Amino acid sequence: MPELPEVETIKRGLKRLLVGQEILSIERNWHKSFPIESNRSNKFLIGAKISDIHRIGKMLVIELYPAFSIIIHLKMTGQLVYVPNNLSDIGDMNRFGGGHPTDSLIGKLPDKSTRVILTLSKGILYFNDQRKFGWMKLYKTKSLLNTAMISNLGPDALDASLTRGEFVNRIRKRSKSKIKVVLLDQSTIAGVGNIYADESLWASKIHPETIVEKLSDLELRCLQFELIKVLNLAIEKGGSTDKNYVNADGEKGSYLTYARVFRRTGMPCSECGWTISKIKVNGRGTHICLKCQKL
Ligand SMILES: [Zn+2]
Repeated sequence: MPELPEVETIKRGLKRLLVGQEILSIERNWHKSFPIESNRSNKFLIGAKISDIHRIGKMLVIELYPAFSIIIHLKMTGQLVYVPNNLSDIGDMNRFGGGHPTDSLIGKLPDKSTRVILTLSKGILYFNDQRKFGWMKLYKTKSLLNTAMISNLGPDALDASLTRGEFVNRIRKRSKSKIKVVLLDQSTIAGVGNIYADESLWASKIHPETIVEKLSDLELRCLQFELIKVLNLAIEKGGSTDKNYVNADGEKGSYLTYARVFRRTGMPCSECGWTISKIKVNGRGTHICLKCQKL
C-alpha cells in the first residue's frame, strides 16, 4: 500500500500537471470504485475546474472549483496515471503515474484494471485498481474535514504542528501496545505504513514489539526524529515504488535502494553486520536487526 511519501510524490506530480484543468467527462466500469449516481456526477463534476491537490494522511484530495472535492484512497493495488493529450507536455515517459507497481503504469490504457477515467481539458486521468479495494469519493469541500474518515485521523507525521512533545503524548495514549502497532495506527499519527515504521524503528534502535510504556521520552523523541528523516528521504527519492513507477520527470521511485532493513532479509545490517531477520508483529511482516533492536 502506498504510504505518506508515495502519496506525496503522486500529489506533487499531479498538482503540477492537473491544476487549472477542467473535467470534461467521467467514465466508470466499476461502480464501487467511484460510487456516485450519474446525475450527481454530471451535475457536480462535469465542468468543474481542478483548483488544488493535497494529501491527507495516505489519501489524495483533488479540490474542485466551485464546491466539491474528490478523495482518493489507493489501498492495496490502486494507481493513478495521467496521460496528456500533447505528449510533449511531460518528459520522455509521456505520462505521469504512481501507486501500485504493475505494467499498467507504463502500458496501454485503459486496460482491464482501469476502473475510472476522467477526461480533462488537456489529458486523461486513469484510476486503475486490480483488486478493487481502492476508491474515489465526492465530498463537499466545506464539510470534508468533518467526515469521520478524516476527523478520526491523527496529525500527519510530517505536520509541523506535531511537535516532539505532542508526538510523545500521542504515542503514550496507547501505553500497553507494541510500538510498531501504534506507529501504524492512523488515528495516532497519519501516513506511516509498514516500510517507514520498520525503517524508523531500526534507525532508532527500538525493537518493534517493545511495549510503549517501556520506552523513555528520549527514545520516542529519537523515533520521531528518525521517522521524519526517512519520510523526507523517501519523498526526495520519489517514494519506494521500485518497479515501473514513473514520476512527472520520467524517473522511477528509488527509495528502496536506501532502505536499511525493509526487504533486506538475510542481508547484513549496515550498522553491525548481523543478518536482517523478518518476524511478524500482529500479523504484519516486520524487518529487524535482532542485534541493534533488542527487546
Ligand atoms: Zn544491526
